[in-house]
Amino acid sequence: MVQVCVAFGANLGDAQATVLQAIQDVGALATTKLHKASSLYASAPQMASGPEFVNAVAIYETDLPPLELLDALQNLENIFGRERPFPNAPRTLDLDIIFYGDVALDTPRLKVPHPLWRERAFVLKPLAEICPDLVRTQWLEQVSGQDIYRL
Ligand code: AMP
Repeated sequence: MVQVCVAFGANLGDAQATVLQAIQDVGALATTKLHKASSLYASAPQMASGPEFVNAVAIYETDLPPLELLDALQNLENIFGRERPFPNAPRTLDLDIIFYGDVALDTPRLKVPHPLWRERAFVLKPLAEICPDLVRTQWLEQVSGQDIYRL
């Protein structure tokens, strides 16, 4: 079993319901169990357009290999009706693997740890809530200018 962290974001439709459902759906994937989920947060769109995002992160335990996990998450994004009309378009559901155990991968399809996770308040804040040991205060200070609040 590997411990993985998945970040959730949605800013179209009923974004809160989508994120809550998706947290459960990832936990229902083969060999995968939800360990801990954060509260929901709202953040201003960054490098994306449209309404405010609803965000959360969750920790799972899984036996799915990294690319199979990514396939399953992309399948879930499709099930939730994500369209990709243009880069960074508003999305009904965005799923990112933030880390996959302590595996480091840098391939076109999958980069873990996610290269931007320390720059994103919408990952750091919810992660600090459920795994405070993984998030340094200094990183939180660096993203303190990003608009985010707990719902
Ligand atoms: P996005 O449009 O933000 O959902 O980016 C999706 C693309 O990023 C997909 O083509 C993935 O293959 C790629 N990708 C690379 N690393 C990751 C990661 N850690 N989690 C999710 N997608 C990733």
